[in-house]
Amino acid sequence: MHCRPPHLFLSKTLASLHMLLIALSFSLFACATNPDNEQPRPDHHKDGGFRNNYSFIDPSLLDFLEWRRQRLVHMDRSEPEDLPDPVTDPAVDYLASNHSEVSLTFIGHASVLLQMNGLNILADPVFSDRASPLGFAGPKRHQPPGLTTQQLPHIHAVVVSHSHYDHLDRPSIRQLCEQPGGPPVLMMPLKLDDWVRQAVPECDEARVEGLDWWQEALLGEVRFILTPVQHWSQRTPFDRNQTLWGGWALVSDDFRFWFSGDLGYSQDIPDIGERLGPFDLAAIAIGDYQPRWFMSPQHIDPHEAVITQQEIRADRAVGIHWGTFRLADEPLDQPPKDLAKAREKHGVPDHHFITMVFGETRRWDGSDLVPLSPSSDTEKSDPVTGIQPISGSVITVDD
Ligand code: ZN
Ligand code: ZN
Repeated sequence: MHCRPPHLFLSKTLASLHMLLIALSFSLFACATNPDNEQPRPDHHKDGGFRNNYSFIDPSLLDFLEWRRQRLVHMDRSEPEDLPDPVTDPAVDYLASNHSEVSLTFIGHASVLLQMNGLNILADPVFSDRASPLGFAGPKRHQPPGLTTQQLPHIHAVVVSHSHYDHLDRPSIRQLCEQPGGPPVLMMPLKLDDWVRQAVPECDEARVEGLDWWQEALLGEVRFILTPVQHWSQRTPFDRNQTLWGGWALVSDDFRFWFSGDLGYSQDIPDIGERLGPFDLAAIAIGDYQPRWFMSPQHIDPHEAVITQQEIRADRAVGIHWGTFRLADEPLDQPPKDLAKAREKHGVPDHHFITMVFGETRRWDGSDLVPLSPSSDTEKSDPVTGIQPISGSVITVDD
């Protein structure tokens, strides 16, 4: 019997209890049955949940314990010295008034705000202080979110990649459903739509979509397509892989974007490039990859992130999933350094795969993500690129 390690790392004082619960989940999962086993089903569906498309080497429970032992002895706990300071004056006014340009804001960890086709779309919003079910224990964020929920423009849609606490944060989903003007549409992997309906009553009025791999939902002019990636899901000791995971392709006639969520390297990546590429821009995870002997099935490293950019055929990429919650052994400021080495090794120009400062917003100038100029005026065409406002591009969530 194999086991995937928990993504949520509780404090040391809770570690023993956590181990016990993980061990218990082994036996429960082994006993899961599928009441629908008479029905034909996709290969990635299995009794009581889901599996990856391609061979997935599960680290065993012993591997997990060995990693934790090594971490206690060897992990560098010094403060990261090269983390950028968060932006002190995020582009709140620009974000509120921009209905025409594509822009991307790095909020922190995997949370990004994408503006495209008049929609404000949040990916994996986590605004809580800890990536944990507990307010007093679990991975604590190193710096506050680059934007507060009060500084967000009205959010039309939220996409969630999977159930791990550093990607799906119930207080954040609750706050978004209570935003003035009504809740966003919630785009979830299959079965996480059920989680929303059960766990977040504040979202009762929201449109909630639960998508399988390669399925899509339309909002305004944007197609939201859930793509397979190699990963796993778990929020409790009893729900391992019972909800689906994936990346998100957001595609319109004007712009093509891909959000990776968490992923190990697999054939899914070139599959995405073949079926949905090319992309203008991708947000690709670059952090939480050490030690490789343990993390590689579930988290790509910066070298693999560059390969991912190339294989999904993304012209530009932004590194996410770094600098905020320390979930693996590399220092928080290490991923951009290793990304620079990976770019050099693969001959990728620096501006083709960048990292952004926490809270930074960049706009798409037609071919690249560029910093906002102090005079950014979203109501006029750009004199350099000729981007024109899209008439009638403000799309309500009722569409
Ligand atoms: Zn994860
Ligand atoms: Zn993660």
